[in-house]
Amino acid sequence: MKHSILIHPDPRLKKVCAPVADLSDKLRLLADDMLETMYAAPGIGLAAPQIGVMDRLIVLDCEKEEGVEPKPLIMFNPEIISASDETNVYEEGCLSIPDQYAEVTRPKEVEVQWLDRDGNQQRQSFDGLWATCVQHEIDHLDGKLFIDYLKPLKRQMITRKMQKLKKERARAKGA
Ligand SMILES: [Zn+2]
Repeated sequence: MKHSILIHPDPRLKKVCAPVADLSDKLRLLADDMLETMYAAPGIGLAAPQIGVMDRLIVLDCEKEEGVEPKPLIMFNPEIISASDETNVYEEGCLSIPDQYAEVTRPKEVEVQWLDRDGNQQRQSFDGLWATCVQHEIDHLDGKLFIDYLKPLKRQMITRKMQKLKKERARAKGA
C-alpha cells in the first residue's frame, strides 16, 4: 500500500525517532509499503517519519542502472559505526522537499549496522551514492533534513517555496 509523503515544513520531520524495540509483522509490512511508496515516487530512499511514522526505519535502493536487478534494503535501527575523513559532494534532493536540489558534503564512505527485515544484525560499508543516501536517510531519523546543511538564506528560500507549494496543494484539494 502506498502512503502519502509529508512535505517540509512539518513538525514530524523535525523529531528524533524512537528505536524499534520489537520487530513485528506490522513493522515488516510497513517497510514493504515504504519501498512501494519510494519506488512509486520515484526516489532512492525513504525514512519512516516522511510518512508520519516516528520509528527508526529507513528503506533505500540506489541501483539506478537500467536492466539491473533492484537492490532494496530495509534497515531497522540503522547506525553509522564509522565514517571516512574523505568527503564527497552530491547534489541531493528529498521526497519531502520536491524539485529542490543542492550540493551537500558528507563522508565518502560509511560503515552501517542495522537490523534487517528478518531481525538479523547486518553490517556493511557503503560508498558513492549509497553512502550519501544512507546518511541522508539516517539524518531523517534524527529530525535533520539536507537543507539543514545549507546556508540559512538558501534554506529559508527553499522553505518558503515549500510553504507556497503546500498552500497550493491544499487549495487544489479544497477546490
Ligand atoms: Zn529525504
